Amino acid sequence: MDILIVGGGVIGLGSALELALGGATVTVLERGTCGGESSWAGGGILSPLLPWDYPAAVTDLTQLSCRLYPEWVARVAEISGIDPEYRVSGLRVLPPFGAERAVQWCAGQGVRLEQDGEGLWLPDVAQVRNPRLMKALRLALERMGARIVERAEVTGIVSTENRVERLDTTAGPFAAGCYVVAAGAWSKKLLGKYGVQLDIRPVRGQMLLYRAQPGMLRHIILQNGTYLIPRVDGHILVGSTLEDVGFDKATTGEARAELHARALGMLPQLAQAEFIKHWAGLRPGSPDNVPIIAQHPQLENLFLNSGHFRYGVTMAPASAKILANRLFNRERPSDCSSYDWPRLN
Ligand SMILES: Cc1cc2nc3c(=O)[nH]c(=O)nc-3n(C[C@H](O)[C@H](O)[C@H](O)COP(=O)(O)OP(=O)(O)OC[C@H]3O[C@@H](n4cnc5c(N)ncnc54)[C@H](O)[C@@H]3O)c2cc1C
Repeated sequence: MDILIVGGGVIGLGSALELALGGATVTVLERGTCGGESSWAGGGILSPLLPWDYPAAVTDLTQLSCRLYPEWVARVAEISGIDPEYRVSGLRVLPPFGAERAVQWCAGQGVRLEQDGEGLWLPDVAQVRNPRLMKALRLALERMGARIVERAEVTGIVSTENRVERLDTTAGPFAAGCYVVAAGAWSKKLLGKYGVQLDIRPVRGQMLLYRAQPGMLRHIILQNGTYLIPRVDGHILVGSTLEDVGFDKATTGEARAELHARALGMLPQLAQAEFIKHWAGLRPGSPDNVPIIAQHPQLENLFLNSGHFRYGVTMAPASAKILANRLFNRERPSDCSSYDWPRLN
């Protein structure tokens, strides 16, 4: 089976890895450089922020991914020689929060949760250093013989009645037996007339980065939607905003001041840390944060893996598995109809 994947983010490269491991011949077409968009910009927390706030489709996908992550990331590290710094660092939720709902949900899901004077404590929440993960995925794919074509922007989909014939790109035409669109926030735009039913839109998120003494913060902390993520070398990320501003990746002074003030309120010692960087990324926003991992309703050799919104880094391994099971006609691990292509009303 030869497969063309559009998009070199965590979803495109994660899908490529799973398909290549299954024996497919894989080519990734990326407009810029791999891992240059949302997958680089994100925080790398491997859990929904308040998991009890999401529908079952998000819980199922994130929990499957969290089970797959240790082995998945170890394999990527082994093939690439790059450590993506997967760590179980735990998540502390500071007040205010709805404790009753959290306790009930965690008990029902078998998720460990403790409550103390400081807040809620989820000891099993892990994180990954996503820019490293992206480098590792890219290198692992190359070492496995996958072809990665960067600076190749897909500009058109050429189809017959019910099949894609080829993709036109700025690097020339590309054809394959099967096509996967994993173009993040740009997926609907890229699909043009073939994506009319989709509701995938860019949602901007701004992040700040500080350099602190290693150990200043040991766990991820979250309060009122703002989170701080400690990396092993002392770097601390602060995120993030949720902004509906179209395809605008600019950063704003207002967001910087607000994130900084909130972070200082949560961790006063951050005043001693050095401010390093401020950036923005565009998440592939979707209703209820539920991605589409499905075959196109008319074009039988076209598939979509997109719309992972706030949790694409978390959802990548499970989404890739669901896609590969579909493409290889394997049994699916569970009912995946929640990720089907939206129907025309
Ligand atoms: C500030 C911020 C914080 C986040 N924090 C977390 C977190 O802590 N945990 C978590 O799980 N998730 C987090 N996320 C969300 C996560 O980053 C995204 O859900 C995920 O990266 C989406 O991956 P993707 O591969 O679909 O998209 P992208 O990484 O955006 O990749 C899509 C790729 O497609 C390419 N492309 C687009 N159009 C074309 C075209 N026409 N031709 C060829 N290539 C094209 C783009 O150049 C891009 O490289 C965060 C996101 C942001 C912005």
